[in-house]
Amino acid sequence: MTILVSACLLGQKCKYNGGDNFSKTVAAFTAGHTVIPVCPEVAGGLTIPRLPCEIVGGEVINTAGESKDREFRQGAEICLALAKEAQIDMAILQSRSPSCGVRQIYDGTFSGRLIEGSGVFASLLRENGFRVVDVEELEAAEKEKNIG
Ligand code: SF4
Repeated sequence: MTILVSACLLGQKCKYNGGDNFSKTVAAFTAGHTVIPVCPEVAGGLTIPRLPCEIVGGEVINTAGESKDREFRQGAEICLALAKEAQIDMAILQSRSPSCGVRQIYDGTFSGRLIEGSGVFASLLRENGFRVVDVEELEAAEKEKNIG
């Protein structure tokens, strides 16, 4: 399989705060497959570190109130092109990110409240017919397999 993965899940320090979200489950699941690591926010020209962003009324805004919508959308398009070129079979994406979140995102009030919804990149992948999986879904499924 060819699997696109949020780069932070593979240990790349591309998070807004300069950290990563390394996942042992993702590393084990993708072993032996072709892995395409992408960070749509960095691809869109944003720096590490950067201010956290949320989607406010459909527009991506950072905690200083600046619009980062153009960067988010450009980065998502660049990573979509990579997904198409590589003909990926699925994407495993980081939870709750305004780019990569698959099932939930923060509600745009910067208060830690979650709502149902997807980040800019996850939505674009889905609109283009790609299978997107939230890393927490994968981790839960793998855990169940190990118990069962
Ligand atoms: S944009 Fe996606 S890949 Fe980049 S740091 Fe955020 S969650 Fe990770």
